[in-house]
Amino acid sequence: MLLVLKENITQEQKELLKRTLTDQNCITREIRDMGKDVIGVIGKITKDIDYFKKMDGIADVVPISTPFKFVSREFKKEDTKVKVGDVVVGGDRIVIMAGPCAVETLEQCMSIAKSVRQYGGVLFRGGAYKPRSSPYSFQGLEEEGLKILAKVREETGLGVVTEMTSPVQADLMMQYVDVVQIGARNMQNFELLKCVGKMGKPVLLKRGLASTIQEWLMSAEYIVSEGNENVILCERGIRTFEPSTRNTLDLSAIPVLKKLTHLPIIIDPSHATGMREKVSPMARAAIAAGADGLMIEVHNDPDNALSDGPQSLYPEQFGKLTRDLYVIAPVVGKQLDFDYLKKSETMKKSNGNGAGTATFIGALGTYSHIASMQYFGDDIKPLPKETFRDIFKAVDSGDAEYGVIPLENSLSGSIHENYDLLQEYDLKIIGEIKIRIEHSLIAQKGATKESITKVLSPPPALSQCKHYLDQHPDYEQIIAKATASAVKTVSESDDLTLAAIGSSMAADIFKMTIIDKGIEDNPRNYTRFAIISKNPETPAKGTKSSIIFSTINKPGALFGVMKVFSDHEINLVKLESRPIAGKPWKYMFYADLETNIEDDKSKQVVKVIEEKTDYYRVLGVY
Ligand code: PEP
Ligand code: MN
Repeated sequence: MLLVLKENITQEQKELLKRTLTDQNCITREIRDMGKDVIGVIGKITKDIDYFKKMDGIADVVPISTPFKFVSREFKKEDTKVKVGDVVVGGDRIVIMAGPCAVETLEQCMSIAKSVRQYGGVLFRGGAYKPRSSPYSFQGLEEEGLKILAKVREETGLGVVTEMTSPVQADLMMQYVDVVQIGARNMQNFELLKCVGKMGKPVLLKRGLASTIQEWLMSAEYIVSEGNENVILCERGIRTFEPSTRNTLDLSAIPVLKKLTHLPIIIDPSHATGMREKVSPMARAAIAAGADGLMIEVHNDPDNALSDGPQSLYPEQFGKLTRDLYVIAPVVGKQLDFDYLKKSETMKKSNGNGAGTATFIGALGTYSHIASMQYFGDDIKPLPKETFRDIFKAVDSGDAEYGVIPLENSLSGSIHENYDLLQEYDLKIIGEIKIRIEHSLIAQKGATKESITKVLSPPPALSQCKHYLDQHPDYEQIIAKATASAVKTVSESDDLTLAAIGSSMAADIFKMTIIDKGIEDNPRNYTRFAIISKNPETPAKGTKSSIIFSTINKPGALFGVMKVFSDHEINLVKLESRPIAGKPWKYMFYADLETNIEDDKSKQVVKVIEEKTDYYRVLGVY
């Protein structure tokens, strides 16, 4: 059962409540969920629900109907985010853990780990204790293997994941690794589950070879009931009658689990399929289905691997896969961040009053806020501003370390004001992020499509949902400043005739109900945001550059600049002109190039640009 506490509960009332529960030998867990303090209670309670309902300081009592309690969505509505060092499993950035089936040698692990990090992996996997079907197969390097993993972490910065097969390994695991894996064969080894529950380290719990989702969640409950909430579920295929693949990958477990539990879920397509060529298609499908991450076997020499070679990807295949995932993730509102670990390292080094702060337009829950969370992760401090100029000012003055500004939308084009501000302020673009703009119709709990008569949103959002609104001609359209402020206005009234168009994140923030999701006319609605900063990394290590220039007043000057890009095979991905303020009929050109314009190889190119222009500035290399 779930006790929802009143906001004004006194210390005495809380003490009395706790005493009542401990007297009855209950297991209790206090959490904060959806802005409320909640106590989960498990055990044989002799007092009935009404007894608790009548107690002072209690707002509501809700029974939990599922046999698994602490892991259930009924207990906690918000998603659990499991932290592994700087990596968050269950957030907006998908987490890729990859590496060999078994740790073989330090050289093998280092070689694979470097590729894993280069291609976007953020955790390294490798087994040191291998539960093999045959006692004559390689059983793992044991402690020696754990030491190799610890060395990999030290050298590459990748946290390490490894399987624990017995409680006797607990001390070694505590010493050497970041995530302990419970293998499929041990999913119902209850002593082992209790042991990792007590250890407190993040646990990756694989689904048993022939276990139901309920049995799997009951195993997770063993771990959480010991006080360890850091559980990541991993679907790795189950036994069915189908012999074409090693196991049958149950991707439907993803949406099923998302409903039943708040724990993050990752997919292991390697053990599920058992065949290299089938790993990437299933990995892509898993991300499209909403998985929080993937565990993938990668080997530098699969033909000679001591375990699971045939299902291990070559490093380059893994690289190709992550490029595909980079494209797929935004469709489902997530990101694959190739700079994930690098960003955390930079953010840890920063100091000053604006450190770790990102400023953006509007209010909490705007698409700019979503972009900042997807770019930096959950720990970034939000600083909403009224205008784009305020954002530039805040970054320039140091009030915020970063600014997140929209530059262009795939349907409505460039946001010119920001191009002009980039010209005016001496700040640098240090990164970019593209997010999908998916609009929802949001209203108060209890509202229906029929009760709604007015829809609030800013003009671009209203026009992007024209087809949907055309189907509801009786809805009066009311202009709001921003999507999030429209949602806020609706949340502040208890009027069931009001609705807003905005992001599902805004609906979450303001605790509102989504009436319809994906109501934009064109689903290919993406916005590209630039991340601006006053203190870029020098020398910049990126592969893309944004520059601005104005050409000298001579025939063919612009052509001359374009020609040098063509001569040096530099791909020009964007070219835009803007009038220069105070100089009628003179233009500033903005160009995005697929090269690092500040590295030594570009010196010749820059020399030509400088000859052909009377103004030239690099806005950023990222
Ligand atoms: C593994 O990850 O190497 C492994 C043995 O997995 P599973 O327990 O899913 O078979
Ligand atoms: Mn394996």
